[in-house]
Amino acid sequence: MGRAVRPRASGTGYRGQRHAAKRAKLADLPARHSAAWTAGAEGCSSIDGARARRYPSRVRTMVLRQPAPAADSPLVLEDGPAPEPGAGEIRLRVTACAVCRTDLQICEGDLVPRRLPIVPGHQVVGLVDAMGDGVAGWAPGDRVGLTWLAGTDGVCRFCLSGRENLCEGATFTGWDRDGGYAEAVTARADVAVRLPDGYPDLAAAPLLCGGVIGYRALRVAGIGPDSAGARLGLYGFGASARLALQVARAWGAEAYVTTRGTSERDRALELGAVWAGGYHDRPPVRLDAAVTFAPAGAVVAAAVRALDRGGVVAINAIHLDGLPAMPYEDLWWERSIRSVANVTRQDASEFLALAARIGIVTDIETHPLEAANEALARVATGALSGTAVLTTGASPGTPRASGG
Ligand SMILES: [Zn+2]
Ligand SMILES: [Zn+2]
Repeated sequence: MGRAVRPRASGTGYRGQRHAAKRAKLADLPARHSAAWTAGAEGCSSIDGARARRYPSRVRTMVLRQPAPAADSPLVLEDGPAPEPGAGEIRLRVTACAVCRTDLQICEGDLVPRRLPIVPGHQVVGLVDAMGDGVAGWAPGDRVGLTWLAGTDGVCRFCLSGRENLCEGATFTGWDRDGGYAEAVTARADVAVRLPDGYPDLAAAPLLCGGVIGYRALRVAGIGPDSAGARLGLYGFGASARLALQVARAWGAEAYVTTRGTSERDRALELGAVWAGGYHDRPPVRLDAAVTFAPAGAVVAAAVRALDRGGVVAINAIHLDGLPAMPYEDLWWERSIRSVANVTRQDASEFLALAARIGIVTDIETHPLEAANEALARVATGALSGTAVLTTGASPGTPRASGG
């Protein structure tokens, strides 16, 4: 290909919590390794000379055969042939895949897998290395992200009205079809998202679920580029809320963060929240909008009580333990409660472009692919301080020369 592929520039703004040395090693890889497999050469050596694996004839994958508690290591490391892309599909060489709480729910069986065995993972970053028939718009070496949305039917009334997140025939990455806990994954070319140049793989991976859904939640709550001065409440302060806070700040909204832990409150203030308190505290102002991230109906009720007239609460949770009864006066004056379901391709591309432009900071910790069970266990026990990102040892995608 001859395309310049350089180690990424430092200072793009992500903050690893652990394994800093490992990350530095990834960043310092010589450019020629990236170039070798960006070119998609059949059977070129893995960048890890010690393992000397060959790609893409065999790939390692963490497979869920039967759900089990994370502590019992439900994922099994398998070595098998690389998946072949079908018509309309691309294959990615995975460089990074972030771990989402939904992956944990699938692996533990709280969210019943739609297919077994299944490879989890729906925050996937990789480079295109093979394409099936009929694929347009992608080329080998393109840097791609995959999200939770694996496909839509394109024909239901929701798809036809620009609301594909509500598609009745949607399929999902790592639930209906194999996801990114692997060295290679295939995906429908039309749902893959082009990643903005200059944003490192490890920092981009957590944006692809928690980031995009947080972005959508802000939009559902009525927060957008014209929200300067709006008062936004964020209830819960995990990975998704941290990203949403940065977007809201870039739009000029004031963020009021309510969360349990004092370290989370400190992090909220560091990231620019004007106020941070506990669940029993009430924000010092009436809110125009709020997004709840904690899967607890009581938190939704508290957010509604904090709203000003006309305010909106967006619930960013797939599951909620139920909504408590509340006096109608709490909802009176055109306050409203909305859920946030899935994302659209447009949400993903808008958010990723914005993330690159404003330099969103991602808090991550990295784990090698084969330690996916350990990463899930850390999600289960709440030990994470950011988002766990699985790395394959493949060279991270790097910023391309402009116009490349
Ligand atoms: Zn549809
Ligand atoms: Zn997710």
